[in-house]
Order: sequence, then C-alpha cells, then structure tokens
Amino acid sequence: MLEDTIFHKIIRKEIPSDIVYEDDDVLVFKDINPKAPTHVLLIAKKPEDFVSSIADLTDETAHVSLMLIRKAQKLAKEKRIDGYQLKFHVGKGGGQEVFFLHLHLLSQQSLGLG
Ligand code: AMP
Repeated sequence: MLEDTIFHKIIRKEIPSDIVYEDDDVLVFKDINPKAPTHVLLIAKKPEDFVSSIADLTDETAHVSLMLIRKAQKLAKEKRIDGYQLKFHVGKGGGQEVFFLHLHLLSQQSLGLG
C-alpha cells in the first residue's frame, strides 16, 4: 500500500491540476514548476497500477512503466512534437520528490495546449 501523495489527491480531484490528457488508465498534467516549454507528468490512474518508484517495480507492475512511455509517445506524436525527453527520477538520490511513479515529458517544443 502506497502512502498518500499529492498525485493521489490529483487523481481524486481533491486538488486542482492542469490536465492535458486523461483516459481510464492515465492522467497527464502540467508540471507546476516547468523546466521546459512543455513539461508534463504522466501517472497511472488505476489503484492496481499504483507504484511508488521505478525502484519498486516488479514483474507484476513493470507494465505500468511501459504504459506511461507509450502514452507519452502517442501524445507527442499527436501534438507533432518530434524531439523530447522522457525521465523517471528514481529515489531520493535520483531527485525523486513524489513517491508515486510518474514520467516526465519535456520538450523545447510547445504542446500547443494553451
Ligand atoms: P520528481 O522529482 O520526479 O518526484 O518530480 C515531482 C514533480 O512534481 C516536480 O517536477 C514538481 O514540480 C511536480 N509537482 C509537485 N506538485 C505538483 C502539483 N501539485 N501539480 C503539478 N506538478 C507538481
């Protein structure tokens, strides 16, 4: 069981976020402290997909990381972004602040979402 994090609260819509994409499985929202013109975070929405960190992935949850990468790839393609970075910060030493698995999508190109 994961400790409740700010991203759990975002999924439950208890705190506001700037959502750029959402489906049954994944939520994509703008990073509150963007490091590039496009800087969004992708997280899994289903409780069975909740993982705290890449460091804690198991054979049972490894699909979650691939799901986030595929969604980032599709979003970038849809928005015609051809150059971007995908980052997982892993553990405190890796700069991870929120212990709810999330993928950073950064680009110097704009997502064109206003
Ligand atoms: P990490 O260092 O990988 O754990 O990244 C956490 C990211 O979450 C940072 O880039 C923060 O700017 C971002 N962040 C923290 N709180 C919020 C929030 N309420 N809404 C959007 N992004 C957030």
